[in-house]
Amino acid sequence: MADRYLSFTATGPGRFLTRRLGLPQPAALARWSPERPALDGGLRHLTAGRSGLDLAPVLARTGIGPAGSDRAAAVVLDASGVRDVEGLAEVHAALHPVVRSVTANGRVVVLGAPLDPADHHQAAAQQALEGFTRSLGKEIGRGRTVNLVRLTDAPAAESTLRFLLSPKSAYVSGQVIEVGAGEEPAAPVDGNRPLAGRTALVTGAARGIGEAVAETLARDGARVVVLDVPQAEQDARRVADRLGGTALLLDITAADAGARIAEALPDGLDLLVHNAGITRDRRLVNMPAERWIPVLEVNLASVLRTTDALLKAGTLNRGGRIVATASIAGIAGNAGQTNYGASKAGVVGLVRSLAPRALAEHGVTVNAVAPGFIETKMTAAVPLFIREAGRRMNSLAQGGLPVDVAETTAWLAHPASGAVNGQVVRVCGQSLLGA
Ligand code: NAD
Repeated sequence: MADRYLSFTATGPGRFLTRRLGLPQPAALARWSPERPALDGGLRHLTAGRSGLDLAPVLARTGIGPAGSDRAAAVVLDASGVRDVEGLAEVHAALHPVVRSVTANGRVVVLGAPLDPADHHQAAAQQALEGFTRSLGKEIGRGRTVNLVRLTDAPAAESTLRFLLSPKSAYVSGQVIEVGAGEEPAAPVDGNRPLAGRTALVTGAARGIGEAVAETLARDGARVVVLDVPQAEQDARRVADRLGGTALLLDITAADAGARIAEALPDGLDLLVHNAGITRDRRLVNMPAERWIPVLEVNLASVLRTTDALLKAGTLNRGGRIVATASIAGIAGNAGQTNYGASKAGVVGLVRSLAPRALAEHGVTVNAVAPGFIETKMTAAVPLFIREAGRRMNSLAQGGLPVDVAETTAWLAHPASGAVNGQVVRVCGQSLLGA
């Protein structure tokens, strides 16, 4: 469903009228394409507090040149050394003069440190960065995004910084991402095809977000297996053929789904993307069990069951990645979606609990993407008024595209993202719903 308001506000008269009426002014987002693989401009590296990070070589490897004195496409503020309120004054002093010079579709990335349980002054100052980041994200406008990365080791965060400082993260804003100290260093990878030699299975990939995920992982070099229900055979085969992959026609709720996936992948699996999902909306007072049970089955029970089966069978190779699909409805809740909200919150619980163990025992990371309003058949079915509210009620004042979720998945799937584990990353344009 085309966003006509977005097209209208991109015209001269549309801009004039919406400004006069005080209506949202969404900026056309500059997403990744082969012709536009990088941000359009340079990077400014600022520091607040006394940082122990060796950031300069990592930023140099992103390939973004230094910004000139007037405009910057990216600003990285290293505030990891901020330990008190005086340090926060340095955050203000560093960003206040430059925020105006950040170009449209530019990026602000604030770097923070984990909260120190033994130092409540440091914890207060570092938590303050979260409120700062989310507030700046809400006011900065013009397609610019603001995110916070908590880290202890700069090289371990390289893949995350590359993602956030690129057009691939166009619809990711207001997020707080924690990057660990890093696992074993990743083997060098082909920058253009980082997933070459890897096999990815995407559930629900015959259309919508799943199709975009399969396409983006294939772009990055992965061999893709397109899993969907037998009724979606035609679409699943079309997607698989287009991407040079294979289709696996299977209802993910089947008791033996894990065993059948393992059987279809004798050489193992590197990337498992739990994307299949359904809605059966109704307020709880009107919701029969027939609408509750299938949503919990597809969105949560099958995710738990197949994950357990594939880890137990050893199908997931070391260095593997699991990316599950939550939703902002599982974080903020949504009227008419007690079943869906419960299932997606369950995904968040699964990710947080399993991530440390899966990494320790299997060398596999477990993360979630939590989409906000994404333009797909699922959201095209939403009544017009609610759909329009969903589109506008975020800092970027527009819906995201399936490719936005796909790019986020590709970053989590990257061989160099091993230090990103147990994270729930919202792809929601900083939706006003939820934290
Ligand atoms: P969609 O309805 O367009 O596609 C879902 C796909 O999953 C379909 O191809 C469907 O056949 C498949 N599927 C459903 N049940 C299955 C089963 N039992 N076994 C195998 N495949 C099955 O949905 P979408 O909008 O692309 O959403 C993809 C995921 O993103 C879902 O988990 C959804 O909950 C989540 N999500 C979407 C949005 C959004 O705005 N579109 C927002 C938040 C979360």
